[in-house]
Amino acid sequence: MEEETVSTKELEGRVALVTGASRGIGRAVAQRLARMGATVLVNYNGSLDRAMEVVQEIQEAGGRGEAICCDVSDYGACGRMAEEIIKKYAHVDILVNNAGVTRDNLILRMSEEEYDKVLDTNLKGAFNTIRHLSRYFLKQRGGNIINISSVSGVTGNAGQANYSASKAGLIGLTKSVARELAGKGVRVNAVAPGFIETEMTQALPEKAREAAVASIPAGRMGTVEDVARLVAFLAGKGADYITGQVICVDGGMTCA
Ligand code: NAP
Repeated sequence: MEEETVSTKELEGRVALVTGASRGIGRAVAQRLARMGATVLVNYNGSLDRAMEVVQEIQEAGGRGEAICCDVSDYGACGRMAEEIIKKYAHVDILVNNAGVTRDNLILRMSEEEYDKVLDTNLKGAFNTIRHLSRYFLKQRGGNIINISSVSGVTGNAGQANYSASKAGLIGLTKSVARELAGKGVRVNAVAPGFIETEMTQALPEKAREAAVASIPAGRMGTVEDVARLVAFLAGKGADYITGQVICVDGGMTCA
């Protein structure tokens, strides 16, 4: 994992919840926000050991964090997670909706379960956390929501009707909630990564990976740090006047 120095502690005193932070992009985001001074809640669903490793890495680097289990597709469980966070920390400032899954298939073969699983996790999961945490953001008169969408949600992708629909839905959710909450000091943005090296993309057949890399003008896959840097910027002061935006971090894949 690429280690980078973060010179400011501009998130000191902030509490950040990063969903799906036990590996991949979520892990890099959690580590970066912690290096910026935030106390980071490392959400996971099945991977307790890996979430604990992330917390340990954060603590060894001098940061603060703890693991928090919750299936984001479960509305009630997200409500309980929100209450638990507020009970312990009294406030929550940053929400990164990163948890996501794929169940790729061509539309004629896609099962109802494959469709529902992806929509329930990727889109309803973000609704669930936003729905439960927004009231605290409103009470605090401040909050910052960053939804991890995908270029598949911007352009569509053959074999990913369920995933693309979930990620396009996240963009609609982002823009609508941004409009609702902007006047209350809450910013909501979406980050749309392209093809990033994680376990999610390692699972793809070699031919599909080669084809994807060939479609990237920058000539390489992205790294988790490429995405984490953008999320960190959106979480920080430099992005104070940015809301309702979708920013692609994709090596030029979606250049018009
Ligand atoms: P990944 O390596 O497969 O990690 C997915 C994470 O999501 C894991 O920490 C997993 O935790 C968590 N998760 C899955 N279902 C969950 C649930 N129901 N509740 C809570 N956590 C859950 O994925 P990644 O590649 O880092 O992707 C992270 C995000 O970026 C996803 O939203 C993905 O769609 C998006 N993205 C990725 C790429 C890419 O090229 N990799 C491109 C565009 C967008 P457990 O194991 O504990 O369940």
